[in-house]
Amino acid sequence: MTHVGIGYDVHQLVEGRKLILGGVEIAHTKGLDGHSDADVLMHAICDAVLGALGERDIGTFFPNTDPRWHNAPSKIFLQEAARQVSFRGGKIINIDATLIGEEPKIKPHIDGMKFQIAEALGLNPSRVGVKATTNERMGFIGRGEGIAAMAVASVDLPE
Ligand code: MG
Repeated sequence: MTHVGIGYDVHQLVEGRKLILGGVEIAHTKGLDGHSDADVLMHAICDAVLGALGERDIGTFFPNTDPRWHNAPSKIFLQEAARQVSFRGGKIINIDATLIGEEPKIKPHIDGMKFQIAEALGLNPSRVGVKATTNERMGFIGRGEGIAAMAVASVDLPE
C-alpha cells in the first residue's frame, strides 16, 4: 500500500547562525534560528515521512527541550524517520519538497541538498525532489524574516 505524508516547517532568519538547508551549509549574512541546526528543509521532509507512517511530528521524537539535540545535524532526524519506515517493513518511494524564501539563491545548492537528503534516507538522489521559490516579497518570508519548507513523502508499507 502506498501511503503519503505532508510536512511543513518554518524558522526565523537571524544573525550569528550558520545557514544549513538540506544538509548544505550556504554562505549568507544570516542563518536559521532553532534548537538543532534548524535545517527547515530536512525538518519538513522528516515530518512528511513520519506522517506517511501515521506517526506524530519530529518534535515528539526529538524534543527541542532535550540538550542532546542542541545544534544537532538534522540528518540524524531523517535517519531516524527512515529507520521508522524500515522498522515497519516499508520503503520510501519518493520525496518532493519546496523551499520558500527570498534570499539567498538556492539553485546552485539543489544538487547538494538532494544528495544529502537521499543519503540520510538511504535513497537514490533521483527519488528526491527539491525546488525553491520566493514569496514574491509578500509577508514575513517576503521581508526575509524567515524561510519555510513544505514536503511530501510517498512510502510503500505492507498491508
Ligand atoms: Mg523545525
